[in-house]
Amino acid sequence: MNKHAGEAPAHVPLRLASTTQTLPTSATLAMNEAVAKRRAAGRETIHLGFGEAAFPLHPLLKTALAGAATRTGYAPVLRIPALRQAIAAYLTRTRGITCSADQIVVGPGSKPLLYALLQILEGDVLLPVPSWVSYAPMAYLAGRRVTGVQTGPDDHHRLTPQALAQAMTQARRDGADPRILLVNTPSNPTGSMFDRPDVEALAGWAREAGVTLISDEIYAELAHGWREHVSPARFYPEGCIVTGGLSKAFSAGGWRLGYAALPAGTAGSEAMTALRALASEIWSAAATPLQEAALAAYTPNASVEQYVRHSALAHGYVAGQLYDTLTRLGVPCPRPAGGFYLYPDFSPWRPALLERGIRTSQELAHYLLEEWDIAALPGSVFDEGPLALRLRLATSLLFEPEHAASPEEREAALWRVLDQAEALGPTGEKQQPARSLPALERAQARWTEVIRELSLLNAPISQT
Ligand code: PLP
Repeated sequence: MNKHAGEAPAHVPLRLASTTQTLPTSATLAMNEAVAKRRAAGRETIHLGFGEAAFPLHPLLKTALAGAATRTGYAPVLRIPALRQAIAAYLTRTRGITCSADQIVVGPGSKPLLYALLQILEGDVLLPVPSWVSYAPMAYLAGRRVTGVQTGPDDHHRLTPQALAQAMTQARRDGADPRILLVNTPSNPTGSMFDRPDVEALAGWAREAGVTLISDEIYAELAHGWREHVSPARFYPEGCIVTGGLSKAFSAGGWRLGYAALPAGTAGSEAMTALRALASEIWSAAATPLQEAALAAYTPNASVEQYVRHSALAHGYVAGQLYDTLTRLGVPCPRPAGGFYLYPDFSPWRPALLERGIRTSQELAHYLLEEWDIAALPGSVFDEGPLALRLRLATSLLFEPEHAASPEEREAALWRVLDQAEALGPTGEKQQPARSLPALERAQARWTEVIRELSLLNAPISQT
């Protein structure tokens, strides 16, 4: 019993704001740290819990960063001028988005830029369900209400105008006022991509509804090749903000460098002024040497372009291989089109799982980690209902060589994967087998064992 009970509250030096009292660490970063701890304790883990592009850096970027190491001064708040030119030209060249240099802002990763956008734009937020772990917490931190727009695995998690209109009606009924729709194609967690008619339809809906569309295109370069990446900014340029960065296509997440492309015109330049003010008070500017190095990524260069293409093919191959294994085992899963994620559904094994006391995706993820040494994230952290037995599997770490004796050996093995990438086609097409990828093979074998054991306990409910 507190001997001061009944007295005036003692001085509390650190009192948390109500918004952060219950805010958990991002599930994906927390899982990565948990896996590192398990491995340090000698527990082998099949790491499908963290989406990190981990190919070696392109040598041109490495040289550019080394050459800029002495640029220790603060950069201008929004970006160094050469980089904004390069990114505008890159988006015009690769995505068909009409874009000029003064529409570009660079920041320390696209994540803080997304948060800054949610701070400066008016209104509540519509988010597809499922969607990336950080969008909803960012919106809450910015004091916005979030309304989910339901999507389903049967049609590759398409986002239809009907579902959007329904969500809008529901939001208004609940007293919210959504003015922002945040989409992500290719998607984390589903690996799906919107096709062109769907992109046109959702851009048209956003324009009609007077909603700002934020299009997170961080995985755009990693389309596997069977579906074209189409940016909604092509159909709604006056109301669409595109974000992206170096983390995925250039395997440089730790560099923390991202960008946002705002619309042209008065509304865009007012948003730029607000973003500039916010950035100037929080992060000042992205690191100058990294902005210099990013120039090498966004300036046309055949070797860098080949590196990105090879990386997309390799990610497509590995995601496709695990997808094939799961679908052969009868696990429903949307076919991955871009990025490095799969989003399988284990509900056919619900009875078998119930026998083990597993009802929710969270419990399923826990069971797989503890009993099978598989790290995966539950669908619930992507805002799915807890009873949906879906998991997000990240395939980006399945290239890791098994016994690399040194960082140099590891790097050489990863270069060999990239060098053979042309021979690998997207899933469903004729593919040559990759040179042995032990982490992938182990994951395939482990899933085969898991599904066999669950099926012994309880034959899958037949799919309709
Ligand atoms: N958007 C999505 C969908 C992501 O998956 C990630 C990283 O995992 C990010 C944004 C963050 O990217 P950045 O490293 O540019 O902050």
